[in-house]
Amino acid sequence: MKKIIFVSHCILNTASKVEQNEAGLEGEYRERRRLMELVLEKDIQVIQLPCPEFQIMGSRRWGHVRDQFDNPFFRSRCRSMLEPFLLEMEEYCSRPDRFKILGVVSVEGSPSCGHGLTCIGDWRGEVETEDRFREIRGELKMTEGSGVFVDVLESELRARGLDIPVLSMDSMSKVISGI
Ligand code: SF4
Repeated sequence: MKKIIFVSHCILNTASKVEQNEAGLEGEYRERRRLMELVLEKDIQVIQLPCPEFQIMGSRRWGHVRDQFDNPFFRSRCRSMLEPFLLEMEEYCSRPDRFKILGVVSVEGSPSCGHGLTCIGDWRGEVETEDRFREIRGELKMTEGSGVFVDVLESELRARGLDIPVLSMDSMSKVISGI
């Protein structure tokens, strides 16, 4: 039986992430390392999902909040990016004797790929003054909920009757440890 996970793109390729001081990502990178070690140790197969933000806005993008991506255009692009992967999931799920998809791994806190945690704020318009910049920064909140890419993924999974959970890196590591 081949065991498979689908991972958010930047779990395998951190070059796709928003440019930032990576010292702030220490905790996330620790979880990532642990997950990768377990994947190799337990011979889990890995399929990398596309990075929606990199594909839509490239490497020079600012950090965003969920509200900015929660629009029909972004959702439609997410659906198109996910389509070939959903077909792969359907095919693997049609052979339960041979394949088991353990789940999709999220990146918690992301406005796109978060699952239990995402960031929100009423961000829009020109940032013309320092006061406006501070006002925007002050509106940033981390909150329970999914990013837009994961939201689209879960509704597509439901529509296709695919019972595949979305799990954080930490939760997936616990699942793999128990195998
Ligand atoms: S959009 Fe998703 S895959 Fe891309 S950098 Fe953000 S969390 Fe990672």
